[in-house]
Amino acid sequence: MATECLDKQKTIDLRKKHIGPSCKVFFSHDPIKIIRAKGQYMYDEKGERYLDCINNVAHVGHSHPDVVRAASQQMELLNTNSRFLHDNLVVYAQRLQATLPDKLSVCYFVNSGSEANDLALRLAWQYTGHKDVITLNNAYHGHVSSLIDISPYKFHQLSDAEHHKQFVHVAPSPDIYRGKYRADHPDPATAYSDEVRDIISRAHERGGKIAAFIAESLQSCGGQVIPPAGYFQKVAAHVRQAGGVVIADEVQVGFGRVGSHFWGFQLQGADFVPDIVTMGKPIGNGHPMSCVVTSREVAQAFMSSGMEYFNTFGGNPVSCAIGLAVLDVLQNEDLQGNALRVGGHLTRLLGKLKEKHPLVGDVRGHGFFVGVELVRDRVKLTPATAEAQEVIYKLKEEHILLSADGPHRNVLKFKPPMCFSREDAELVVERIHLILSDIEKALN
Ligand code: PLP
Repeated sequence: MATECLDKQKTIDLRKKHIGPSCKVFFSHDPIKIIRAKGQYMYDEKGERYLDCINNVAHVGHSHPDVVRAASQQMELLNTNSRFLHDNLVVYAQRLQATLPDKLSVCYFVNSGSEANDLALRLAWQYTGHKDVITLNNAYHGHVSSLIDISPYKFHQLSDAEHHKQFVHVAPSPDIYRGKYRADHPDPATAYSDEVRDIISRAHERGGKIAAFIAESLQSCGGQVIPPAGYFQKVAAHVRQAGGVVIADEVQVGFGRVGSHFWGFQLQGADFVPDIVTMGKPIGNGHPMSCVVTSREVAQAFMSSGMEYFNTFGGNPVSCAIGLAVLDVLQNEDLQGNALRVGGHLTRLLGKLKEKHPLVGDVRGHGFFVGVELVRDRVKLTPATAEAQEVIYKLKEEHILLSADGPHRNVLKFKPPMCFSREDAELVVERIHLILSDIEKALN
C-alpha cells in the first residue's frame, strides 16, 4: 500500500519527475488516477466508477476474491525463487497443458510477455540452428532488445537493408479490411501466405535461413486484425519446409478471450498447432507472470545445447497459486462462455451501428476481442483518427474506458475483463451511438 493518498496533481508531477516517459496516449489527456478496482469497474480517488472495456490484464475481473485469497494464502505460507522443488509449479504446468494440444507439453515460466517472446526466439534459434525471423507488419511482441525489430507497431520502421542486417523480415499483416488483399479477394489466406513464401525465397537467395515466423493469432495492437481462415496452416507449411518454427503470441488474445476456443490459434482449426506458444497478460490476472510452451523436441534441443535455463521469479509458488486460481475462476464462472455470448451480443450491436453511422467502416471480432474501424470514406478507407480519439475522450467523460489502436489509431478496441455483462455491452454501444451521432452532425 502507498503510505498516503496523494493529491492527483502531485501524483502527476511526481510521475513526470521520477518515472521514465511512457504510455503517451494515456497520460497526455487528463489521466485518471485509479485507487481500487472490482470486477469490470475501476474507481478513482473521488470514488467515481469507470467501466473498464480495455483491461485484458484483469482477465477474470479486477481483484477477484478467489485470486486474492490464493495469492495471500500462498504468500503467507511460502514464496521463494524457483530453484526449489514445489508442487504448485508442476500442478500449474499440468493444468496449462491440458488446455493445449498434446504436442505442446513443456512449459517455461517467466514474468512478462516480452520475456516469453524473447525466450521463444532463443528456443527457435537453438532448435533450428537458423537466424532469420519473419514478423508481421504492425506487430507488437515486446520491449526487450531482441523484440524491438520484430515489433514494427511500436518501433521505428527499419529500412529493408537494415532489417536484413538484423535478420528480420516483415510480411504484410493479413488484414482483409484495409490490407493488401481484402475480403473481396478470391483467396486472401493463400495470397497473404504466398507473401511469406516469397520472403523465405528472397532470404534464401541472400543466404538467410528462417528460424521462426512469429505472429499473434489475432493481431491486437495492429488494429484487431483477424487473419483469414487457413492462413496459419499455409504459412506454417512454408516456414516448416524452410526448417523454421511457428510461434503463436497469445499474450493478448489467449485464455478464452475469443469465446469459442481457449486459444486464439484454435480459431484456425484443429489442424493448426504452433511449435511454440507464448502467453502473458491475463494468466496472472494482473500479477506479472507469463509462460512459453513448446514441444519436448524443441525443449530437448535447447537443453542439449548446454543452455541451462533458470529464471528467479518465473513459476514461483505465489505466481502458480494465482495461475491455478485464475483457471479455476474461468471454469467455475464459465467466463469463456460469457465471452462467447456477451461478446457475440456486443459485436452484433456494434454491427448495427454500421447501418446507422457512415463513420463505422468495419466491425470484427471473436468473443471479447472486438474492433470497430472508423473511416471517413468507406471506399477510400480514409482513417477517421481524430474521430476515434474523440469517441475515446467522450466515453471517458462518461466514465467508460476504451482505447483506439491500429497503425492509424482509428480502431476502437474492446478487450474487457471476461465478466463484462450484457448490460455493459448495451450501455457502451448506446453511448458510442450517441457520440457518433454528434460527431457526424458536426461533420455535415
Ligand atoms: N505480445 C503482445 C501481443 C503484447 O500485446 C504485449 C504487450 O502489450 C507483449 C507481447 C509484451 O508483454 P509485456 O508488456 O508483458 O512485456
